Amino acid sequence: MKDKDCIFCKIANGEIPSATIYEDEDFRVILDLGPASRGHALILPKEHFKDVCELDEKVAARVLPLAAKIGAAMKEALGCAGFNLVQNNGAEAGQTVFHFHVHVIPRYAGGPEMVTWEPG
Ligand code: 5GP
Ligand code: ZN
Repeated sequence: MKDKDCIFCKIANGEIPSATIYEDEDFRVILDLGPASRGHALILPKEHFKDVCELDEKVAARVLPLAAKIGAAMKEALGCAGFNLVQNNGAEAGQTVFHFHVHVIPRYAGGPEMVTWEPG
């Protein structure tokens, strides 16, 4: 089920173009518009779930293995030393887009390798 007013529904289903790094029948993985580090990605299910509490069994079972696969691919492709998985539920918990998603944030030896901001 899609939510017609949800931007991540539109992105996940290809109605709005995005920097896609992975796609299958259930998920699209895109680069975050405001990255915390180089390569910061978001795992979006193609179906609309507001948060982790709403996930169906198939998406719930697939999302963590997919996050591990994306993280491992980041180590290979980007050379990051590790990665964070972050997943916010509710505005008070920092959720700003109310379509379930998992952040995969590469972490590099020596610092964040920011790409969105350069000092003066
Ligand atoms: P949340 O705070 O809900 O866990 O994370 C939402 C994330 O989505 C933020 O990191 C924000 O930068 C990202 N974001 C918001 N709108 C868009 C968009 O239109 N495209 C992309 N690629 N990322 C977005
Ligand atoms: Zn949605």
